[in-house]
Amino acid sequence: MTIYRAQVLDTPEDPFHGGVLRADADAGLLVTADGLIADRGPFAEVRDRHAAEPVVELSDGLLLPGFIDAHVHYPQARIIGGLGMPLLDWLERCALPEEARLADVAYARQVAAEFVSGLADAGTTTALVFGAHFAPAMDALFTAASARGLRITSGLVVSDRMLRPDLHTTAQQSYEEGLALADRWHGQGYNRYAVIPRFALSCTDELLAACAALHAAVPGSWFTSHVNENTAEIATVRDQFGCEYVESYHRHGLIGPRTVLAHNVHPTEGDLECLAAGSAAVAHCPTSNAALGSGLFPLKRHLAHRVPVALGSDVGAGTGYSLFKEGLQAYFMQQLLGADGVALTSTHVLFLATAAGAAALGLDAEVGDLSVGKRFDALWLRPGAGSPLDAGLRHADSPELALARAMALAVSSDVAEVWVDGVRVKYRDTET
Ligand SMILES: [Zn+2]
Repeated sequence: MTIYRAQVLDTPEDPFHGGVLRADADAGLLVTADGLIADRGPFAEVRDRHAAEPVVELSDGLLLPGFIDAHVHYPQARIIGGLGMPLLDWLERCALPEEARLADVAYARQVAAEFVSGLADAGTTTALVFGAHFAPAMDALFTAASARGLRITSGLVVSDRMLRPDLHTTAQQSYEEGLALADRWHGQGYNRYAVIPRFALSCTDELLAACAALHAAVPGSWFTSHVNENTAEIATVRDQFGCEYVESYHRHGLIGPRTVLAHNVHPTEGDLECLAAGSAAVAHCPTSNAALGSGLFPLKRHLAHRVPVALGSDVGAGTGYSLFKEGLQAYFMQQLLGADGVALTSTHVLFLATAAGAAALGLDAEVGDLSVGKRFDALWLRPGAGSPLDAGLRHADSPELALARAMALAVSSDVAEVWVDGVRVKYRDTET
């Protein structure tokens, strides 16, 4: 076993409903050889209780729960930064040509390796990942994620209209390929399978029905897609289906507690009621919403309807893997909403990037905070000596302020080490 000594910040209680930041300035976390947090308390007390165990000193900086990215696209790892286009233009000119390249499995393997490195480097230990349109490319992702040791929920992305012909499938093919992938990967290590129609706009009812059948055929599988991102997209979906956007999924039985829908920037009241009734979660992706000009996320309305919200990077429309940046952008956009926004604190942002994601993914019994009984999924934020963030952390007079400075200033290179289940998945070899 190992004792980690650090300043530990986490959010075991929902700050949108009365929870506060849990901050221990000099904590000890006892972690078993297989990654379970077995004891926690003031360092001196934990050390006395387990005097024979080695101590890892992480006393500079902050130890946070590993980040949980509730919406990120593996095939878009190489196209981050395609600015200047609204959603449908960006898809046609930027995203879909790149996604078609993953038909080449050698290419897909390279992208998969870069993608999982991007996640781990940012301190992201768990992710709900939009996959590729090609089954061999999905094998490449699950293989790369398994080798790195990240907790990945992902699956084949399917569409049968309105994309490029080389990205289209059929209902039968999507079911058969999805089932075969789930047989290979669902429940293997940290991998879980997700059923993923790209968005209702690019899916017929027949394909969505096949998605529902696959979701039912794979117990414990997740369902994810996009919803209500862009006004032109929403108008087209209304024309296609003759109903509200969430209903296009709901009428196939696809809105439930294992559902996470990305964006929901422009929901109707009916959309929110349907999501709430189904206990489905929303992944809020603020840098993507800003980059594509999609709009300002109505967090207050989601909270009023008690629709769970987590944070997603939405790489590659989002501008990077770091949930520090994503959290800061979430804060910015709520500020811009004025009276319609939610005045987010650093505690809210940490919750959205950790425990909220764990709950949305049904993993909250295992990860999301650093309580006794959870797995040791954590990131150690340790900025370079003398950097603005280092100075800011050293001169913060409260843990909330330290956390706010981390949100404002931290980038992935400030994340020195990252663990999943007690195993290091990133370390900075310049450390001494
Ligand atoms: Zn997306």
